[in-house]
Amino acid sequence: MSEPLLDVRDLRTEFSTDDGIVRAVDGVSFKVEPGQVLGIVGESGSGKSVTCLTVMGLNDPKFAVSSGEVLFRGEDLLKVSKSRLREVRGNEIAMIFQDPMTSLNPVHKIGRQLAEAVVLHEDVSRKQAYARALELLKAVGIPRAERRIDDYPHQFSGGMRQRVMIAMALINNPDLIIADEPTTALDVTTQAQILALLKRLQEDFGSAVIMITHDLGVVAEVADDVIVMYAARIVERGAVRSIFNEPRHPYTWGLMGSLPRLDVNVERLYQIPGQPPSLLNPPVGCRFHPRCAFAMPVCREKDPRLEATSGDPAHEEACHLDGETKSREAAALVATLTAGAVV
Ligand code: ADP
Ligand code: MG
Repeated sequence: MSEPLLDVRDLRTEFSTDDGIVRAVDGVSFKVEPGQVLGIVGESGSGKSVTCLTVMGLNDPKFAVSSGEVLFRGEDLLKVSKSRLREVRGNEIAMIFQDPMTSLNPVHKIGRQLAEAVVLHEDVSRKQAYARALELLKAVGIPRAERRIDDYPHQFSGGMRQRVMIAMALINNPDLIIADEPTTALDVTTQAQILALLKRLQEDFGSAVIMITHDLGVVAEVADDVIVMYAARIVERGAVRSIFNEPRHPYTWGLMGSLPRLDVNVERLYQIPGQPPSLLNPPVGCRFHPRCAFAMPVCREKDPRLEATSGDPAHEEACHLDGETKSREAAALVATLTAGAVV
């Protein structure tokens, strides 16, 4: 069997705060194969960003402590030196954030920033670096790139800035791109364009992608596999088709039930009430039980473990409900959603 590109094992990250210890990531394991797109989905505050910041070694060591393993091509990034980590981040893993303005330097022209990044990684002349920058701007669909290369970041729209960030991420031809809510700040049309671009580039360049989003719709567009996170843990995982065809965790039902619908008349059966818990003091037992319409006494006491109950060994969920109930509820929800979409 080939080695996964990224193999994250029992990852935990906690922050010391004035109010106590925040366990932002609490025993998360997953793998990413070369060229694969993994979607990580969950409401705000579920630990998606901290998971990826921990993988990249970007938490502030003054406040954050992490444990577990982050095996990137077999090398544990939690244990390597800072300089090695910088090397990996510069050459093999790239990140795209929600707000490109925070990653672009406002006082330098776009072309210069891209060219400088090219020079950092390739032994090329200034002129060649600019040529490469131009080529990248064209590859990410910046219209009139020859002229826009001399513009400053603030002269670009949000969508165009995100394209520039994607160009920046592609410079070293990374094996893994981590995109944290890359389209969340954009309007729906631009969002669709950027997702299509990412998907196309992922196919052309063959990079693996971790796509973090609070939006299951985004996952449906781009991901091969999905992890659903709730309150610092994975509550469900599987191939995207199997998650959408047969979601087996009540939290995933909630996320699916609240997707924007074509038919507004269909009742949103599975809207999730309330808010995600504070990670200072999360609920005992299943962390989702206070918001779960299906909660049973055992859910208040015992922490459910991830297990495969659908017959598909790659599809796992952490829920005490019996397999039959999960199958029945999943079928009912999917039938309702499908009916709504057809009307
Ligand atoms: P998501 O990306 O899913 O919205 P995050 O990973 O950003 O969630 O955050 C997970 C939890 O960790 C949240 O409760 C958040 O408040 C907490 N958290 C994130 N960063 C810090 C930090 N630097 N110090 C303390 N708590 C943090
Ligand atoms: Mg986040």
